[in-house]
Amino acid sequence: MVNNSNPPSNSPLTKGGTSSSSPLAKGGDNMNSPLAKGGDNMNSPLAKGGDRGVNILEVDELVKTYKLDGVNVEAVRGISFTVKSGEFISIMGPSGSGKSTLMHMIGCLDVPTSGRIIIDGEETKDLNENQLAKLRNQKIGFVFQTFNLLPRATAIRNVELPMIYAGLSISERTKRAREVLERVGLKDRLNHRPNQLSGGQQQRVAIARALVNDPAIILADEPTGNLDSKSGGEVMFILQELHKEGKTVILVTHEQYVAEHAERIVRVLDGKIVSDEKVTDRRKSDNNSEIVK
Ligand code: ADP
Ligand code: MG
Repeated sequence: MVNNSNPPSNSPLTKGGTSSSSPLAKGGDNMNSPLAKGGDNMNSPLAKGGDRGVNILEVDELVKTYKLDGVNVEAVRGISFTVKSGEFISIMGPSGSGKSTLMHMIGCLDVPTSGRIIIDGEETKDLNENQLAKLRNQKIGFVFQTFNLLPRATAIRNVELPMIYAGLSISERTKRAREVLERVGLKDRLNHRPNQLSGGQQQRVAIARALVNDPAIILADEPTGNLDSKSGGEVMFILQELHKEGKTVILVTHEQYVAEHAERIVRVLDGKIVSDEKVTDRRKSDNNSEIVK
């Protein structure tokens, strides 16, 4: 286990022209930051459901069958596993093995054909649309391979969006969006639109958006897939820092060397789990590291 919560001072998060204090480094002492809250603020979702060792996610006999042109596609074929609060796991498998389908169901973006998903003690089957939307908004931060930012909105507006759904005031939204963007090293990119940002910067905006409501769980589906190795390394560094701060991180990848940044690797093939193992020699991303095979 990694307990050092102080990232190096020359963190990648500070790059891109921001101040010398790393956005994530700040997390330790800036108690107003959504990231910093996770550890000890008892009002945070993490504090409520996030005692280390408690199951934050339980997936039981999950099945997803798509019907396409009269043909059944069995994308997920009976997957069961649990994730403890504060764990960092990778779900790894080749393209087409059902990883994204699984993540969409865990993230309540798609409904299983059968099986159960229990998030922080809540059986998702029992929730109506509104309750599901609320759960998703408050407990889950989603990061996608293709960033999925609103193209016409600035970085700060993109990050504010989940807080609009959460019902926060405009001043609170702006304040928190600014803080989280600072923490991912984008202090001087607040008013840039996605097409005015590099891929790595866009993914950091997406991570800021995922974090802004202080979710207990971060779901990242191939977050480095569209990035060069340096930007990919920065994204992995941020995910490892978030894990150190107590977030539960579930990372999907088809690459072994990306998967090895986690504590545990669940391998899937053809919609089924084929192995579930601890990582004995974890890879660490630091400030400058590229993602190396
Ligand atoms: P991965 O993320 O591991 O590459 P996916 O979960 O995207 O895999 O896909 C798993 C399987 O389900 C693939 O065979 C894919 O073609 C199929 N699939 C995914 N989404 C749909 C859909 N909306 N309709 C029909 N088939 C789908
Ligand atoms: Mg996928």
